[in-house]
Amino acid sequence: MADRFYVPYLGTSPSVRLEGDEAHHLSRVSRVRLGDRVQLFDGSGVQCEAVVERVGKREVLLSVLHRETADRELPFPFHLGSALPKGDRLQFLIEKATELGVTRFVPLVHDRGTQQPRGANPDRMRRWVIEASKQCGRNVLMEISDPVQWEGFLDFFPRGMIRLIAHPSPVRTGETWEMGEKGRTEKRGGFGKGHVRFGPSDDPLAASGGQLGAARQPGMVVAVGPEGGLTEREVARARERGWRLIGLGPRILRVETAALALVAMLTLGDESIHLSG
Ligand code: SAH
Repeated sequence: MADRFYVPYLGTSPSVRLEGDEAHHLSRVSRVRLGDRVQLFDGSGVQCEAVVERVGKREVLLSVLHRETADRELPFPFHLGSALPKGDRLQFLIEKATELGVTRFVPLVHDRGTQQPRGANPDRMRRWVIEASKQCGRNVLMEISDPVQWEGFLDFFPRGMIRLIAHPSPVRTGETWEMGEKGRTEKRGGFGKGHVRFGPSDDPLAASGGQLGAARQPGMVVAVGPEGGLTEREVARARERGWRLIGLGPRILRVETAALALVAMLTLGDESIHLSG
């Protein structure tokens, strides 16, 4: 893929000016030269091919050759709510969630949550989203919402969506691990792959004949708890509102592992995986 650069607004003008970080990146880091071709995107879904016309100290001027809409989004909205892991692990989570196509990331505030980690300011997180989008070819930026309290988050998403909470309380049953509350195994109405099982509730999947593909519209939302885990109160609040619990196997995963495993598992369906040879 050609070198990609982000501009806040591409519009329809035949020329585009890059400033700030992106101009610096183009001229100093990528060593792009006059006359080189690059790709520009503005986070609205549009990308364009452009040629470098002038490289100044603080700005770069390009002329647009060709504009196109290149859709690399998931076929349904996917929201990820998560406590923020600390340090590099937060950056890792934001970058990988962007690469995997998450529509919106919601930082969650929990009963057992510590303070928001240092360095977790929205501007920095948005910068990571842009960098990951440049790298992976995404043309729509993952939205980063303001931090939300657990119950506000639960109430925000309507029942028609698939709404899942990752919660580790594995109960060994034969060859599979199923999720249940405190030792109660839930077998009814679940669907899943391998050792992953969803507990039952009023269930958008049931309405769609259990087909994950059809049930993904009007969207999915998944939530991951903090390092200290979700409290019983938080789990109960979610169940009352019809959210379902999902187990991810018998090991306790770190926040970012649980979040990314869920995103990958639920978005990379048969249609997006190609085997050859
Ligand atoms: N000590 C906590 C572990 C928290 S791990 C506890 O026992 O609950 C942080 C978060 O990652 C959890 O709140 C949960 O949302 C998710 N998670 C980690 N391992 C998981 C697993 N095996 N299944 C489902 N969710 C898991």
